[in-house]
Amino acid sequence: MSRSIAVVGAGLAGVTTAYELAALGFQVQVFERGGSVAEQASFASSALLSPFLPGLADASAPAPLGFRLRRWRAGRKGGDDAVSQLAALSRLSLARTTELRHELGLDDEASDGLLIALADAKRTAAAEALLEGWQALGLQVELIEAGEARLREPGLNADAPLSAALALAHGGAGNARLFAQQLRLQAQRLGAGFRFHTTVRAIAADGAGLMLRHEYTPPAEAPTRSAEREAGDTLPQPLGPQDERFDAAVLCNGLDAPTLLGERLPLSAQHEASVTAPLRLVEGYPDLGPKAGWVDPSRDLSVARAGQRVRVSGGLTVTDARARVNPDYEALHRGLQHWFPGSVLHQQVQQGQARRAMSADGLPLLGASGRPGLWLNLSLGGQGWGLTCGSAQVLAQLIAGQAPAVDIAALGPQRL
Ligand SMILES: Cc1cc2nc3c(=O)[nH]c(=O)nc-3n(C[C@H](O)[C@H](O)[C@H](O)COP(=O)(O)OP(=O)(O)OC[C@H]3O[C@@H](n4cnc5c(N)ncnc54)[C@H](O)[C@@H]3O)c2cc1C
Repeated sequence: MSRSIAVVGAGLAGVTTAYELAALGFQVQVFERGGSVAEQASFASSALLSPFLPGLADASAPAPLGFRLRRWRAGRKGGDDAVSQLAALSRLSLARTTELRHELGLDDEASDGLLIALADAKRTAAAEALLEGWQALGLQVELIEAGEARLREPGLNADAPLSAALALAHGGAGNARLFAQQLRLQAQRLGAGFRFHTTVRAIAADGAGLMLRHEYTPPAEAPTRSAEREAGDTLPQPLGPQDERFDAAVLCNGLDAPTLLGERLPLSAQHEASVTAPLRLVEGYPDLGPKAGWVDPSRDLSVARAGQRVRVSGGLTVTDARARVNPDYEALHRGLQHWFPGSVLHQQVQQGQARRAMSADGLPLLGASGRPGLWLNLSLGGQGWGLTCGSAQVLAQLIAGQAPAVDIAALGPQRL
């Protein structure tokens, strides 16, 4: 008989994990507090599919003292193994994303190409110094001249200063939510069950397995017709806590994981805001807006094309897990105007902000939790979509007792 596995959370991490486990023949049951897949951090994703580039991530985002201390301590522990394992996982993940798109016919408005702006000579020199290290890690990244970057992204503002750009092979953009919705259907086709509006309250050891306490937590207001259609297969459940036994469970519930783990897991919240607007389609100006993904680390900004829409994100702030921040949407509009002027219609702008879980060293928490039968797929960070397909595949292989496609031993929670 196949083993039963509970997956907690149906963001990108939960949906990909459910798919990979079901593909290996496990009986999978996903529990999601919200009404559909990819409603939280995964809904907000800026749409970039990016390879992991160590050293480029912004380390200067506003953050509380406690977090900065933890990050400093994590940095002192070294972590070379973790960095090289993450680079290998990132490569695997982008390849797995492409494979799933092709094999399953997923259409998430994907576009190829990801450029990182180097606005001035100082930033270009800093990137040049890192280039050899990136290539030694097997990352395919190329330093290109500003003129070449403008050829690849002809919608760029000719007056915006640009010294050079990094071109990332295998990078691109797409619609993470569409990807998750379509992969959910594929996981269901393989037998995985999805129970929405259902909150997991506790997980306890039960002989050789785990006892999950969950509760049907429908929204206070009656669901709208479209929400009802999307959740679809979740019939009203009995009210009050219910216990259900599983052979194992995977926590894919981001910032809420420490509550279920029952131990201190130092996760901080990384906040980011986004603005999404329809692309302006003007006859005679076919190059308005980005062709794919454009990142400007100097303004903490990323711009991506998803179908006929443009999404711009930024304003990274780190806080304690429960804190809230007020996003500066104006800064995002200014950043978009700086790089791609006049590229969107301002009538139908959607603004939003979201939080994602982040560990002190900024790397994922992936693997066995230390409690028998309980596994973690957490803290995928600012490149969570780029990492999610590989993380799920490797985790499923480990749970099945198979040799993992890449070693992730250094990415477990024990390192913190
Ligand atoms: C503004 C923004 C922009 C981003 N841009 C990019 C980008 O361009 N490229 C990229 O690669 N990544 C990006 N990311 C990061 C990426 O979106 C995240 O790393 C990824 O979505 C995390 O997925 P997740 O499944 O771990 O978390 P989530 O999507 O947050 O999913 C966790 C789920 O668990 C559920 N849950 C929690 N507790 C319980 C419980 N007790 N019981 C049942 N369900 C529970 C929640 O309801 C939620 O649906 C961005 C993130 C943000 C916020």
